Amino acid sequence: MTDVLIVGAGPAGLLLACELRLAGVDAVVLERHPRRPDFCRGFNLNARALDVLARRGLADRLIAEGRRVPHAAFSGLPVTLGLAGAHTDHPYSLGIPQTRVEEVLEAHARDLGADIRRGHELRVLEQDADSVTATVATRDGEYRVRAAYLAGCDGGRSTVRKQAGIDFPGTEATRFSLLGDVELADPGELPFGPSTGPGGSVFVIPRPGYVRIITTDPRPPADKDARVTLDLLQTAVDDALGRHVELRAPRWLTRFGDAARQASAYVRGRVVLAGDAAHIHPPAGAIGVNVALDDAFNLGWKLAATVRGDAPDHLLGGYHTERHAAGAHVLANTQAQVLLGNSGDRLGPLIDLLTRVAGHSDGNRAFAEVITGLDTRYDMSPGTGHPWLGRLAPNLTLTVGDSTTDLATLLTPGRGVLLDLTGGSAVPESAAGWAGRVDTVAAACPGHPELRTILVRPDGHTAWLSTTGNDGLDRALEHWFGPAAERGGRSRRRL
Ligand SMILES: Cc1cc2nc3c(=O)[nH]c(=O)nc-3n(C[C@H](O)[C@H](O)[C@H](O)COP(=O)(O)OP(=O)(O)OC[C@H]3O[C@@H](n4cnc5c(N)ncnc54)[C@H](O)[C@@H]3O)c2cc1C
Repeated sequence: MTDVLIVGAGPAGLLLACELRLAGVDAVVLERHPRRPDFCRGFNLNARALDVLARRGLADRLIAEGRRVPHAAFSGLPVTLGLAGAHTDHPYSLGIPQTRVEEVLEAHARDLGADIRRGHELRVLEQDADSVTATVATRDGEYRVRAAYLAGCDGGRSTVRKQAGIDFPGTEATRFSLLGDVELADPGELPFGPSTGPGGSVFVIPRPGYVRIITTDPRPPADKDARVTLDLLQTAVDDALGRHVELRAPRWLTRFGDAARQASAYVRGRVVLAGDAAHIHPPAGAIGVNVALDDAFNLGWKLAATVRGDAPDHLLGGYHTERHAAGAHVLANTQAQVLLGNSGDRLGPLIDLLTRVAGHSDGNRAFAEVITGLDTRYDMSPGTGHPWLGRLAPNLTLTVGDSTTDLATLLTPGRGVLLDLTGGSAVPESAAGWAGRVDTVAAACPGHPELRTILVRPDGHTAWLSTTGNDGLDRALEHWFGPAAERGGRSRRRL
């Protein structure tokens, strides 16, 4: 018996394991592959993902290794979307392999005490009112394990989603692309970026020691999972360009489509879904890893509180409400990019209109915030009408005693933070009832002298904020963190 069984050690499963362990909840991760694959799907973390990881002190080590690109692209629009001035501490996209992000998360999860079992595949799941039981296959045979909750972070073809009976409505793929991580026999034959020929176009992305080639699959087979060979890719590239460009030394060959589907429920009884298991979408905008991390970050503290028994009734269901809406936006954004990228003349006027909007600095920034998820805003009722409410709270610079710190640092233990910005007089004694779940910190915020009190959820989103009194603070604490404990000393964190 364990608290939470996580199926899948991709970005979603690994970050969820970190979050649960941070909150003192046991987590067992089942991963069917004995080793991480030797190819890499994604190569970027966007501004929102970096902001999220920074709330746990995980961003800096990745930023130190990656390459910063200060803009984002919206397929089909002939404009660059700048991130300068966007609501983020990380106004860039970070070029870093998904496999490296997974390595860092896995090491962190193990350090925190997660039990990560590679070569263990979930075969069957059964749930009743009290628990979920999984049948797991390994090289040495099968075993069964029970958990209070089970998280399906097992990718787009999720066994968990299917076995929990959760629908996956959406649209079938109608366009397919071939992808090859290969070497060019003559690197001078094909430049990086798009090249167009009489039969179509080929996109070349530089990678260390090789290139990633993407081109339309002109004749997708009836079985879309049929193996992609170097010959097939070679023919498609040559046909598109109208000339022969020799490809060799394939590392990874695959086919992907533009299907868009979303689970009808992210929570079903004791089963929850996150990442690709909950949504698949066209790869435009390179956002899958980033949304998977965002899901896990939203889910972790809610699931932990539910397992511990101190969560308000609505909390876990709120994961569905918040992240299903965010996922729907991702599906819409990526589908719009596919439409504009394959529009022909019919959508010309729309492209023209959007290009003009993106030509204005506010419109350009809004586009960048929408496609990176920086515009994410959750409903925080009960709460005040402040513009920060529901959004990721800015990483405020704070003075605590003689030290300077910031909000992201205060959030690294994964608890809620109640900032008393009057230096110690604003927060009522009643807040002590949530000590342990919420750290009250008396601080000064020289950049925002108008602020009095801010309640920040463990995922960094502003839950309640006041520039005057404390009306509604207890209600907000109870809404997000459950009833106050009858006893308990106030936890004023000493830095
Ligand atoms: C060609 C391609 C390029 C991409 N490029 C980018 C990009 O540039 N940027 C970006 O952000 N995203 C990109 N993506 C998307 C990104 O890779 C995914 O969205 C992301 O990996 C989703 O993370 P996840 O944790 O939800 O699922 P996954 O990473 O798919 O992890 C799921 C894990 O579950 C395991 N699993 C499955 N079933 C079982 C089972 N029954 N038992 C045990 N384990 C199981 C799998 O082995 C896998 O390790 C790309 C995807 C593709 C295909």
